[in-house]
This record gives sequence, structure tokens and C-alpha cells, in this order.
Amino acid sequence: MTDAPSKVNLLGLSPSQLEAFFEQMGEKRFRATQVLKWIHQFGASSFEEMTNISKALRAKLSEVAEIREPEIVMEKFSKDGTRKWVIRMDGGSAIEMVLIPDGDRKTLCVSSQVGCSLDCSFCSTGKQGFNRDLSTAEIIGQLRVAIRSFGPFDPSGERRVTNVVFMGMGEPLLNFDNVVAATELMMDDNCYGLSKRRVTVSTSGVVPALDRLREVSDVSLAVSLHAPTDELRNQLVPINRRYPIDVLIAACNRYLQGLNDKRVVTVEYTLIAGVNDQPEQARQLVKVLRKLPCKLNLIPFNPFPNSGYERPSDEAIAAFKQIMLNSNVLTTVRRTRGDDVDAACGQLVGQVADRTRRSQKYIAVVQEEPVQGKSQAL
Ligand code: SAH
Ligand code: SF4
Repeated sequence: MTDAPSKVNLLGLSPSQLEAFFEQMGEKRFRATQVLKWIHQFGASSFEEMTNISKALRAKLSEVAEIREPEIVMEKFSKDGTRKWVIRMDGGSAIEMVLIPDGDRKTLCVSSQVGCSLDCSFCSTGKQGFNRDLSTAEIIGQLRVAIRSFGPFDPSGERRVTNVVFMGMGEPLLNFDNVVAATELMMDDNCYGLSKRRVTVSTSGVVPALDRLREVSDVSLAVSLHAPTDELRNQLVPINRRYPIDVLIAACNRYLQGLNDKRVVTVEYTLIAGVNDQPEQARQLVKVLRKLPCKLNLIPFNPFPNSGYERPSDEAIAAFKQIMLNSNVLTTVRRTRGDDVDAACGQLVGQVADRTRRSQKYIAVVQEEPVQGKSQAL
């Protein structure tokens, strides 16, 4: 049986873990580099393809190990270049991911957990509750699926995914070890070779884990703020009751100090009509952001059924942004992309859950005209 549970899925081993794996087998450590390249640069999914490895070792490897990717349940390509997938993980749970092109940049938004335990009031993933952590293989598998959607792997070709953000389902810092190992693979030159500026972990503010991250990684950081006061943030992002804004900002500053370059934190702020989008709140936010080297990413709320919230008008979004810019806060507004392939991250799974329950494999490739200009781009 190829998928016997006892086999190690090499897709999920970080470079150091793969070295240890080969050492344990009594093999030389450089095998790890060879196999890393085969798996992550050439997209190998079997050991037979690894022609610079002896037949005997290949046979031994296929007895104890495998290279297993998650299964695509649904795939949607939009005319504006946006691609979305729902992917089935081991055990049947589904997660989603989205690839968003923007000029030369192609940003893949990956999930780190099935569901999320943090229950932010405006987040559809939070409403689903927590199911389980994704393994490193399941996280890296998402990147492989996105790369392969452009054809067979081609290490000498153009980069198909230039940036990865952990802004899909789940709180990455609550799946710490697997997320860190996945980012190592993403940034390793023998694997995906993405620069540390192009791999971003987004957190709602799990402060102790952020301090741990500083010890082991120099990945880029995004923080979900969403409110300028603790009173409001306590309602929107419940983890704020444990780690309030000042404590979070201090942890972000510690993180930046640990980096050996001049990076800033991306502060995410989901704009919700009548909740956190008022001019007075923008002015309060300016004061908070003075304490942190950062850029601000305003995300117009993405409605979902029974959320109880609404997206602000384009005028309200523009006014909020202008106040920030007038105060010299570098501010972008997330463009609405891929409207023709349904809603954004966190919202696809619900839509396919019923269909996938009925049919084991449902793959839809949808090509429609994109919806134009819902919000301004930057
Ligand atoms: N758990 C992490 C990463 C995943 S969420 C975090 O919270 O940062 C990625 C981003 O999408 C977060 O900033 C989150 O607050 C935001 N988000 C969640 N639901 C949203 C919605 N319905 N509309 C707009 N942004 C949303
Ligand atoms: Fe979890 Fe992030 Fe959603 Fe909050 S916004 S519930 S932390 S996925």
C-alpha cells in the first residue's frame, strides 16, 4: 500500500529534519539536499524520478517514506488571474487557498489550520470553530498545488508564486512548529528560495508565540489590529483580552529589533461599516501606529451570511485612508480581486462543503468576466 500511515511524508520535513532522517537511515547528509531539490524544485512525487540517487536507496526510501500532496477538491481560475482552491487534507477536512496576481507579484494566501479557535467576531473561519492544525506537508502541499497549476515544475523558469502570506484559515502562531518548518522550506535556496521579505506570517496577536518566533525565524510579520482601542478590540479580536494593544505593539517592536534588516510590520485593519471605520477611529489609530514602524493594510470587510457586519462604502474607505495618509502612515487598501471566483479567504469552504459531501471529487474550473472596480486599488 502506498499510503500506509507509517510512512514518513518527506514533503513536510524541514531541511534539518530531512538531514536527520537520512542520518538515521545510515545515509550521508548530502542526500537530504539532493532529495530536497527533487521534491521542492523539480516537484517530484515519487522516488523513481530521483535519477542521481541509486536504485537501491530509492527502493529503500519507497519502503519507509512517501511524498504525498493534499487533494484538490475545487479549483477556480478567474480572468483577472486570481486562482482559488479548496483542498482536502488527510482525514477529509477541507481548507482553501487563493493566489492573487498583482503586476509581477503573485501572492499565495495559505491556510495553517482547519478552522480557528480565536473566534474573531467578523471572521468566517472563526465562526467554524477549531478543527485541527495542518501538518508541514499540508502547508507546503498548498504551495506545490499552486505552482503546479501552471504546469509541471520548472526550476529554471519564471517564479510562479513570488510571495506567500499566512492569511488563509487559522492562526499560524498557534500551529507554531509546523508553520515555522513550512516557512523554512519556503525560504530555503534548495527548495522554493523565497526571500524572507516575501514570506509573511499574519497573527491576531499571540504574544508569547511571537516572542518565540523571534528566537527561531526572521520571516516577515503582519499583525491583525482591526481596532484602535482595547475596548473595541476586545470585542472584535477576543485574544486582545489576554494580550492588549500595548503589549502586542511592544512584542512587534521586539520582533523587529531581532531582524538584521530594516523591515516593518504590516498592520492589517479590516474596515467594518459603523464599527471601526469612523474618522475619529482613524485619528486614534494614527496615535497607536506611531509606536511601531509599520505600513497599514486596510481590508474592506468581506461579507458572509449572518455575519451581522457590512462593508463600508467606498467613500468611507477612501476617507479613512486619507486621514492615515495625511498623518504620514503608509497605507494601502486591499483591492477586491477575483470577485468572479467567489469571496475571499475563509469563505470558500462553506460553499463546497455540501457538494463535496455528496461527491468525493468535485473540481470546477470557472472562467467568467471579473467584476470591475468595487474598491480602489493601491
Ligand atoms: N489568523 C491570522 C491569519 C488569518 S486571517 C490573523 O488573524 O491574522 C487573515 C486576515 O484576514 C486577518 O487580518 C483577518 O482579520 C482578516 N479577515 C478575517 N475575516 C475577514 C473578513 N470577513 N473580511 C475581511 N478581512 C477578514
Ligand atoms: Fe482566527 Fe485570524 Fe479568523 Fe481571528 S481573524 S478567527 S485569528 S483566522
